[in-house]
Amino acid sequence: MMRRHRNVKIVATLGPASSTQEMIRALFDAGADVFRLNMSHGDHADHKARFDAIRAVEAETGRPIAVLADLQGPKLRVGRFATGSHDLEAGDRFRFDLDAEPGDTDRVQLPHPEIFAALEAGSELLVNDGKIRLRVDECGADFANCTVTVAGTISDRKGVNVPDVVLPLAALSDKDREDLEFACELGVDWLALSFVQRAEDVEEARHLARGRAAVLSKIEKPSAVRAFDEILKASDGIMVARGDLGVELPVHSVPPIQKRLVRQCRAAAKPVIVATQMLESMIESPMPTRAEVSDVANAIYEGTDAVMLSAESAAGAYPVEAVTTMDSVARSVEADPNYRGIIEAARQAELHSVADAIVTAAREIAETTDVAAICAFSQSGKTVSLVARERPRVPIIALSPLVNTARRLALSWGTNCIITDGHDRFKLAVLSAARAALSEGYAGPEDHIVVTAGVPFNVPGSTNILRVAPCDERLIYASDPE
Ligand code: ATP
Ligand code: MG
Ligand code: MG
Repeated sequence: MMRRHRNVKIVATLGPASSTQEMIRALFDAGADVFRLNMSHGDHADHKARFDAIRAVEAETGRPIAVLADLQGPKLRVGRFATGSHDLEAGDRFRFDLDAEPGDTDRVQLPHPEIFAALEAGSELLVNDGKIRLRVDECGADFANCTVTVAGTISDRKGVNVPDVVLPLAALSDKDREDLEFACELGVDWLALSFVQRAEDVEEARHLARGRAAVLSKIEKPSAVRAFDEILKASDGIMVARGDLGVELPVHSVPPIQKRLVRQCRAAAKPVIVATQMLESMIESPMPTRAEVSDVANAIYEGTDAVMLSAESAAGAYPVEAVTTMDSVARSVEADPNYRGIIEAARQAELHSVADAIVTAAREIAETTDVAAICAFSQSGKTVSLVARERPRVPIIALSPLVNTARRLALSWGTNCIITDGHDRFKLAVLSAARAALSEGYAGPEDHIVVTAGVPFNVPGSTNILRVAPCDERLIYASDPE
């Protein structure tokens, strides 16, 4: 078994560049904690093969891994090209239409009649997270002839935004409902909802998921930023999806939104992922730019639970190097003496439950003594999320008899998940926490650990015990109450 030497988690999107079990294992070894399957690309058979490979890696390594299925949502996308892609130069004329024929140097399908109905001459179309821009010269019910204003390579299924046009879009398309059912049947741990606009969108997906997966909302619409408080309440987690957000809103408004969302998620004890273009240049280069390294570092200083790779790991030439880069940046930030101060200054939480009091005390004990780890028993994962919210100085060991809980928690800051047998006596729970801390290398035999649990066991939300325990089994037997 190998422990991670960092708190922030790494999400890696899988795609054509990362489909084999060997590659997924290499990404895991390099530091990926969560794998994302993007339902916008590939078919169910591809996703099932990747899912099975992830579970095989999990069985090999003995560490719970979270799988996140990202539902396409009402995202506009172009069709496919005969050659896969086409280079657009500034000034080129290019046509979008409803024709399902593969695209070429002159045209490509845009299978959304509702866009053509809403476009006008002068409208702007943005492709691939806004990297390519085209101006509409003339349009009709089934076509738009455009001029390229910002050049770039357009390729299969790239996303299209029309920022100045309001489109009537349902939260979950028929495809999304099918993908949701497929992903839940497969056994994914998290569902990500694209283009959430209101809390009801999240509730609808939660209803369809029926507890089989936790629900994470991607914040990428101005309306989602406005309704964020309610969306956060309705969600189990959040993704700051900067690709579409930076197209739908002025790009300079994204960093303050990112900061605010990360803080609010932490206060609510719900995991948050910062995503998109984090190491974009590593799609083609083995070295990141300074600015990208800084961006990853900043998200970690802000206290995000996880940072994410998109095309870098799904379709890039250097998937493993991209994960390794994120891992190194994370370790460097977390070793910075300033990091603790910044993380502590950003702590804000409403404390009103017994569980809040216990996790706060656990963190304070870790600050004032030299305990080696905080071990939290949890059925639902709620208490562990509260410990993670405290962003303690020492590792968090989450112990749960439920594999699904352990897998979901793989996304949470600083949380190392271990599956334990169910316990009915507190002394046995302390023993198994001590054994886990020792065998995973979090503690030595002379160390002490903090243990939190709820007694009676198996009653969710009952956290009511905090114990500072030795790791030495003889001392536990000699000293611990039942
Ligand atoms: P989203 O809005 O959901 O992020 P996206 O198109 O930006 O959609 P990402 O998952 O961010 O997709 O991945 C970036 C790029 O990597 C995609 O545009 C696509 O070219 C490629 N990619 C990702 N996953 C796959 C896949 N399963 N099959 C083929 N290409 C993929
Ligand atoms: Mg997106
Ligand atoms: Mg993307």
